[in-house]
Amino acid sequence: SALFAPIDNLGVIVIDEEHEDTYISGTAPKYNTVEVAIKMAYMSGGKVILGSATPSLNTYHMAMTGRIELIEMNKRVKEAQMPEIEIINMADELDKGNNSIISEVLYESIRKSLKQKEQVILFLNKRGYSGFVSCKKCGYTVRCSRCDVSMTYHLVGNIMKCHYCGSAKRMPGKCPRCGSDKIEQFSAGTQHVEKLINNLFPHARIERMDLDSMTDTEAYENIYNDFKNKKIDILIGTQMLAKGFDFPNVTTVGVLSADALLNLPFYNASEKTFQLITQVSGRAGRGDKIGRVYIQTYEPENFIIKAAKNNDYDLFLRQELKLRKEFAFPPFINIINICLISKNEEELVKTAHEKYLEVKEAVKEMVKERSLLLYRPVPHNIYKLNNEYRINLYIKVSNNRLADLKKIIRTVYMEKDIENIKVSININTDTI
Ligand SMILES: [Zn+2]
Ligand SMILES: [Zn+2]
Repeated sequence: SALFAPIDNLGVIVIDEEHEDTYISGTAPKYNTVEVAIKMAYMSGGKVILGSATPSLNTYHMAMTGRIELIEMNKRVKEAQMPEIEIINMADELDKGNNSIISEVLYESIRKSLKQKEQVILFLNKRGYSGFVSCKKCGYTVRCSRCDVSMTYHLVGNIMKCHYCGSAKRMPGKCPRCGSDKIEQFSAGTQHVEKLINNLFPHARIERMDLDSMTDTEAYENIYNDFKNKKIDILIGTQMLAKGFDFPNVTTVGVLSADALLNLPFYNASEKTFQLITQVSGRAGRGDKIGRVYIQTYEPENFIIKAAKNNDYDLFLRQELKLRKEFAFPPFINIINICLISKNEEELVKTAHEKYLEVKEAVKEMVKERSLLLYRPVPHNIYKLNNEYRINLYIKVSNNRLADLKKIIRTVYMEKDIENIKVSININTDTI
C-alpha cells in the first residue's frame, strides 16, 4: 500500500519477490500491486523493477513478448552452497510397510540433525484444500479432462467435481490406472503431523506455525525468535515458513507432501508448487553447514517436481506455458471468477442460475466469434464457510473483449440490486 503514497516525482518503484500472492489485495478495493505499479510508472514516466528468483509466469511472459525488459542475474549473491534436494517416492514407503507421512530417509535426516543440535523445518500445505483424490500406489490423481486441474471430492453424491467447468465424475472405487484400491482422499493436517512427530521424537522441542496457532503477529514473532535462538528443534508449518526465514542452523527441510500443493484445484497450482519448493528449499543450509532437502511425493516423475529439484526455471516455464496455452488459461486468456455468497442457500442457487442466464444472453455474440467461454455455475470448493454458501461462475475471455465483458458484468451483477447476496469478482487471481 506504500504504492499509494503521494509522491510528486516518482522515479523508480521496486517490487521484490514480485511472484508473492501477498501483492494481490483480495479485499476491496481489489488490486494487483504489480499492475498498479506498472500503470503508475507509465503515467508518471518512472520505471518499475520487478525482482524474483522465481518470477511469476505472467511477468515472465510479459518479458518474452517484449512488453517489459528482462534482466538476468545468473550468479547468487553470496556464493552459498545450494542444498542437496532429494525426491522421495512415497509409494515405495508404502511397499516397505511404512504407512506414515514421514519417509525413512527423512526420519533419519531429522534424527541426524537433532543429534548434532541442528534444526529442522517440516513444511505442510495449509488445511482446507485437501479435497483431491489420489492413488497411494501409483500417484494417479483424478483430474478434469477439459481443464487439467485436480477435481474436488464432494460428499453429497459421492462425486468428484471440476472447480472451473463443473464437470463431474463418480468417485472411483479402484485406481483407473493401476487397479489398486488404495485410492483415497488426501488428508494430513499440521496438528496430525505435530502429534506424529511428537511420538517419533519425544525429546525434541516441537512447535507448530499455521493459521490456527498464529492468531496475532506477536505469536508469530515469539515462535520466530524462539526458533532463531534455538529454543525450538523442529518447526512444523504452512507456507508462512517460506517467507524470509534465514536460519543457518537448519540442516533438514522436509516438504511432507508436494502432492497437496500440486493438486490444489487451481490452474496455477503447478506454478505455485514450483515457487514454493524453490523458496522452501532455500531455507536449508544458509550458513556453513550443508542443508538437506526432502520432497515427498507420489508423483516423482512430475515435471514440476523435477524442475524444482534441479532449480530449472526454463524447464518449468516451457512446459507450463505449453499447458496453459493448450487448456486456455492465463497469460493466454483472462479468467473471470464471479462468486455469489449468501446465508440463504435456496435464494443463492436461484439467483446464481438467473444471473447466469442473463450473462449467457448478453455474451452470445462473443461466444459465436469464439472470444469467450462461459461455464455453468458451480459450488465453491468450500461451499459453506462461516454459515454462508458460495457459488462460482467462471468465464474465459480474450484480451480484446475483456472491456466489453466487464461492462456486461457490471450491468448484470452490480447495477441491479441483488438482495441478501454478496458479489465478489476476481480477474486472473485464483490465489492459494
Ligand atoms: Zn494407481
Ligand atoms: Zn474442468
